Amino acid sequence: MAFLPFYIPAAKRLKVVIVGGGYAGIAALTALKHYMPDIDITIIDPKAQHLKITHLHETFRYPLSDLLVPFADLEAGFGCRHVRAALTFNEDTVRQWQTEKCLVVNEEVLTFDYLILAVGSASRGFDSQEYVLNLQDFTDAAGSALLARYLTAENDKSEQTLSVVGGGATGIQFLFEIQQFLCRQKIRCKIRLINSCEQVLTQFPDGFDTYVQSRMRDLGIDYYPNTYYLGQQAGKILLKNKQTGEQFALSSDVSLLFLGKKQENLFAANAVGQLVVDRKPLDRIYVAGDCAYYNAFGSNALTAQSAVRKGKLVARNILRHSGRLKILEPYLHRDIGYVVSLGSADAVGWLVAEGNIVTGLPALTIKEIVETQYDLLLMGIDTYII
Ligand SMILES: Cc1cc2nc3c(=O)[nH]c(=O)nc-3n(C[C@H](O)[C@H](O)[C@H](O)COP(=O)(O)OP(=O)(O)OC[C@H]3O[C@@H](n4cnc5c(N)ncnc54)[C@H](O)[C@@H]3O)c2cc1C
Repeated sequence: MAFLPFYIPAAKRLKVVIVGGGYAGIAALTALKHYMPDIDITIIDPKAQHLKITHLHETFRYPLSDLLVPFADLEAGFGCRHVRAALTFNEDTVRQWQTEKCLVVNEEVLTFDYLILAVGSASRGFDSQEYVLNLQDFTDAAGSALLARYLTAENDKSEQTLSVVGGGATGIQFLFEIQQFLCRQKIRCKIRLINSCEQVLTQFPDGFDTYVQSRMRDLGIDYYPNTYYLGQQAGKILLKNKQTGEQFALSSDVSLLFLGKKQENLFAANAVGQLVVDRKPLDRIYVAGDCAYYNAFGSNALTAQSAVRKGKLVARNILRHSGRLKILEPYLHRDIGYVVSLGSADAVGWLVAEGNIVTGLPALTIKEIVETQYDLLLMGIDTYII
């Protein structure tokens, strides 16, 4: 059994239920198994496979199956159990779970010593409609197959147009992948980016916007800043100028919406990851990942890096809480970089300090290293320093 500082185990074999098998849930699973190999873990997740979602825009190059890790494989590799279900809960439910230390799923009663909620955060979007693709659509089918429904490579067709809506990290990563995909497939199609702000990637330093806009100009991608998306109909997209309020339509065969994450239904947690309800921490229920806002010095960014660190932290703190010392560790993780890929051969990112911008191959290499680190974690090899 690996050494964990401030952890003197009590005799009992622990039972932990993890709700949500994304980045935070998997990080918690691997860390718990690392320090207590015989721990009893159940993961509840509605999907049959864990999705490596940080690669999702790459399904224009690779099959979606490359990004899926069946929960059955994780059950075999880590000796845990997967229950396929989407749990619904509110503050009353979690208070009841804390008291009773059990929950009911698929008519089965699951008892636990500790519960981890790691359900991620939902994407903003419009109800699903024709000629519109949301992030959710890309989790069910590869990007190449989805675009084939709307665009054709036949040369005799009048010029086609595709609109990407949203200039955040996800929209930009999809935009550049799509541009390359259309070139490779020799599909004649104009691409435009619709963005509600003046700049793209506003959560990052200014250099990101400058670099991305110059690459968009080089590749002939049209940019509509300060523009709201109103809707997509057969052959046209409806838009509104944010400054003048003027509404207008442009020709468009399909719109892809990447409108960011909803900042609602976030669970408040204290500095050690325990869920806080009515200002009281619940010492048997921990939260991690995009769904968790920690009252701590560490980063609450909605990133895979923060999700993994929160997942690992709650695992360590659960073990310490179950042990004899009960000295828990506060959440201090700060992201040390973030890279946005711009197709298969280019990227822009920051490393170590936000002003330290890297582009091109060096940036892409950093991204690949970070993603390889997560792939290794899925195989049970933990290369994260903390
Ligand atoms: C296209 C894309 C690219 C990205 N690229 C990067 C990147 O390069 N670097 C980076 O740091 N971050 C990136 N991110 C952000 C990163 O993916 C998220 O921050 C990370 O996935 C959050 O992990 P999580 O475990 O909190 O949630 P998720 O990974 O979303 O996992 C949540 C899990 O909970 C399950 N679930 C949901 N509701 C329930 C329920 N009611 N009951 C049970 N289970 C439930 C879901 O099925 C899912 O498996 C990217 C995101 C996207 C969409």
